[in-house]
Amino acid sequence: MKDNTVVTHAGNRPFENHGIVNPPVYHASTVLSETLEQRINRSEAKVRYGRAGTPTTFALEDAMSALEQAHGTVLASSGLSAITMALSAFVESGDHILVTDSTYTPTRNFCDRTLARLGVETEYFDPLIGSGISEMIRDNTRLIWTECPGSQTFDVQDLPAIVEAAHARDVIVLTDNTWGGGYFRKPLTEGVDVSVQAATKYIVGHSDVMMGTIACNEATYETVRQSSSLFGMCCGPDDVYLALRGLRTIGVRMDRHHESGIKVAEWLQSRPEVSQVMHPALPQDPGHELWKRDFTGSSGLFGFVLKEDDRTKLSAMMDHMELHGMGSSWGGYESLLIPSWPEQSRTATSWNVSGQCMRIHVGLEDPDDLIADLEAGFDRMNKA
Ligand SMILES: *Cc1c(COP(=O)(O)O)cnc(C)c1O
Repeated sequence: MKDNTVVTHAGNRPFENHGIVNPPVYHASTVLSETLEQRINRSEAKVRYGRAGTPTTFALEDAMSALEQAHGTVLASSGLSAITMALSAFVESGDHILVTDSTYTPTRNFCDRTLARLGVETEYFDPLIGSGISEMIRDNTRLIWTECPGSQTFDVQDLPAIVEAAHARDVIVLTDNTWGGGYFRKPLTEGVDVSVQAATKYIVGHSDVMMGTIACNEATYETVRQSSSLFGMCCGPDDVYLALRGLRTIGVRMDRHHESGIKVAEWLQSRPEVSQVMHPALPQDPGHELWKRDFTGSSGLFGFVLKEDDRTKLSAMMDHMELHGMGSSWGGYESLLIPSWPEQSRTATSWNVSGQCMRIHVGLEDPDDLIADLEAGFDRMNKA
């Protein structure tokens, strides 16, 4: 079945609950056994303790597995915790891991601080390396961490080429799949072993919940499940419910983000104030061909570079935007605009573009109103 059908129904079992469409929100820690025999054998029961999951959490896990075409999905309390759970499930002291240079900065921080402290060495690679990654694989390389497109610079990686090189050496590949929401790309169908999302973004979709998902293939699922259970990872039932509720409308939202995002990106491209737009769906973008091959659409998040980087002029624009909020995160229904500094989190590659780099999230507002808001901002900037 197609995605829009899958996300409408996956995970729901109405007739286990009086025919009610949505799953109940189970608030649970203690789960009672009826008999001593059941108590002694409780590890066999699917529902045995709040932390081990309830029908509420199973509903979201099942729905995410259907969306990502995964063998199983493990939930985490934020996108970052999904990343750290996924990474730490596979590594041990003495291991070497390869991480894309354009990964989400907190992912780098976890590798550079926590994993380094535990004796795991991280080496960063050029996101555009493709099959050249095979030369960086060592005997002790355990995994490759990818993210496509990359944070802030939106470079498109050749994931299938990386997977091929990695699997030839028994190295697993994990990816941060947040940008496409699991709707525009299915990394597990391309051989990626684990697909992580900050569900906080497009799954939740309404800027009101922190959540992460780790969608796994059959070979990796038990390892991730057990490891995150050993860490005590679990999510609150109200948040899980809201994430599932958000997921039901991901199709219509993503299609709108795609259309409006391209419209705003094309407008920005035409503006004299803008030197560069980083949006892989634009034919001029260096990642366009790979994007076209591997994605079925583009989300509302992309970057652009303003020729101007004078702080006073920038403030004149940014301090009075009506529709574009200045805030971290993205993937909600609302538009956001923030400055970014990719050069501060690159070590394997360099970012030497002059001007001010910006990150925009095109929300579900009418794109003409968003363009008018940006245009008024540019006018203020030019006059300041
Ligand atoms: C936001 C983000 C995360 C982290 O998600 P949180 O839920 O905020 O912890 C991970 N990866 C990417 C690409 C993100 O943009």
